[in-house]
Amino acid sequence: MENRIIAIKKHKRVLLKISGEGFCSESSSVIDIPKYDLIAEEINNARDAGVEIAVVVGGGNILRGSALSQSGVERTRADQLGMIATSINAIVLQDSLEKLKIPAKVLSAVEIQGIVESYTIHKCRNFLENGFVVILAGGTGSPFFTTDTAAALRAIEIGADVFLKGTKVDGVYTDDPVSNPKARKYEKLEYMDALSNKLDVMDSTAISLSMENKLPIVVFSFRKKNNISKAIIGHKIGTYVGNHNDVSRNTK
Ligand code: UDP
Repeated sequence: MENRIIAIKKHKRVLLKISGEGFCSESSSVIDIPKYDLIAEEINNARDAGVEIAVVVGGGNILRGSALSQSGVERTRADQLGMIATSINAIVLQDSLEKLKIPAKVLSAVEIQGIVESYTIHKCRNFLENGFVVILAGGTGSPFFTTDTAAALRAIEIGADVFLKGTKVDGVYTDDPVSNPKARKYEKLEYMDALSNKLDVMDSTAISLSMENKLPIVVFSFRKKNNISKAIIGHKIGTYVGNHNDVSRNTK
């Protein structure tokens, strides 16, 4: 197939995080089906390399608890709605994967009876071992967290080799590349540097959790064609966040 990228399998199991903005177009729809279909296609291409793939989905295209609470909804309730929003993305992504005949399962920290099954570590590992792409919804299941933190947590729980953080920007920059054309992209970064507020990589809870558990993070853009497949397989893209000593895990 034309889109297929060269498979050099380096990872056994990965945790891919796609934030809500990956599921909508910049201008309009909060649920832009072609965006889910494209992500499913890239997952499919990478799956051929035999990598086990768990996906944590965000919900920011639909709603964010902090924003809703500013409009007057009590914060923990607003966050619960945010967690439910992630299930919507998860179900639509499952649909896109199944259209490609990829076995996919949604497991959520927030069960929706009759629609979305509850997440347990062992159920998740079992589905991965049996060739399913597992889509993890509901974040951590608790308010005041983000799906980035959920992604780090799930990656550690299921023993993923790497946390692939898909975002709009193709890595971590010295400054905001949109407002500062002189900003340079880091190829690799120590956890402690990533924790610096100025770099704004992701929330500090997610980075700290990854650091404490030696989970490498790759920050990359899901907007660039084939990047999701490349990240899953282990090509060198984006910015690697970890300890310098661990760099060989993902930079060949
Ligand atoms: N959320 C939560 N606990 C979690 C994860 C998410 O309460 O463990 C809620 C929170 O309100 C958040 C929303 O779900 O704003 C959507 O998640 P997030 O903002 O992380 O999505 P993304 O920015 O990745 O699209």
